[in-house]
Amino acid sequence: MTEERDALIQAVREFADLELAPNAERWDAEKHFPVDTLRLAGQLGLGGESVREDVGGSGLSRLDAVAMFEELAKGDTTIAAYISIHNMVAWMIDTYGDDAQRERWVPGLAAMTDLGSYCLTEPGAGSDAAAITTSARRDGDDYVINGVKQFVSGAGSSAVHLVMARTGEPGSRGISAIVVPDGTPGLGFGRNEEKMGWHAPRGHQRDHAAGRRAEPSGRGRVTTNAGRAVRDRRPSTRDLGYA
Ligand SMILES: Cc1cc2nc3c(=O)[nH]c(=O)nc-3n(C[C@H](O)[C@H](O)[C@H](O)COP(=O)(O)OP(=O)(O)OC[C@H]3O[C@@H](n4cnc5c(N)ncnc54)[C@H](O)[C@@H]3O)c2cc1C
Repeated sequence: MTEERDALIQAVREFADLELAPNAERWDAEKHFPVDTLRLAGQLGLGGESVREDVGGSGLSRLDAVAMFEELAKGDTTIAAYISIHNMVAWMIDTYGDDAQRERWVPGLAAMTDLGSYCLTEPGAGSDAAAITTSARRDGDDYVINGVKQFVSGAGSSAVHLVMARTGEPGSRGISAIVVPDGTPGLGFGRNEEKMGWHAPRGHQRDHAAGRRAEPSGRGRVTTNAGRAVRDRRPSTRDLGYA
């Protein structure tokens, strides 16, 4: 173990001991999502563990990241899980986003001043993620996204939602990842999920909306978006009119 890694793990251990463990039970009982505490985690560099350093990431190895999450989970498993999900969003935009997307989103995600939500699971697609039915249809410079996501950790507090949607053929190769900023017209929340012992990171059912100026699909492709949206509060996919 290098000295640098040692210091990082020690800092995460102290953070988990002081900030997470004493509060974990209360947060769960009160269904409190501790955004202020997550901002502190961001100051420690925990929001962009595998993100490149030019956009504020920590650039950790996989092994270091595992050690970091082990320490976090000793304090509060739910917050450790949320931070790992947030990191998936930061990593995907850093890895697959274009320069504008990296510059717009990744520094805030790495610092956890912006929180991220990863929107893959649907009422009819969990383990079999390649079966998602949420669609993203090209409409001029826009993508119009239509569908319902479920178990979206952090939804309601996130600045950005990375939405997996079908833009091509059936199966995993026809899925794109689209960046949907909070406040996009048509984006709506359902009720908070009831999850035993897992109340702190909200897990909403979430309806989705539209995007623009995106490339046609390609697996894992991250695309920009804004504006033009539809709303569908039913737990199924369907086409609606545009806002
Ligand atoms: C606390 C929490 C937070 C979450 N956060 C997010 C999030 O932020 N974003 C997101 O997109 N998703 C999130 N999820 C969803 C999570 O990824 C799904 O729960 C997971 O993919 C499993 O899907 P499912 O719950 O529909 O279970 P199912 O897919 O219905 O599986 C139910 C059971 O059947 C088994 N099973 C399924 N298929 C097979 C098979 N072919 N053969 C044998 N056994 C099988 C599974 O192993 C499991 O035991 C979260 C879930 C939880 C509980």
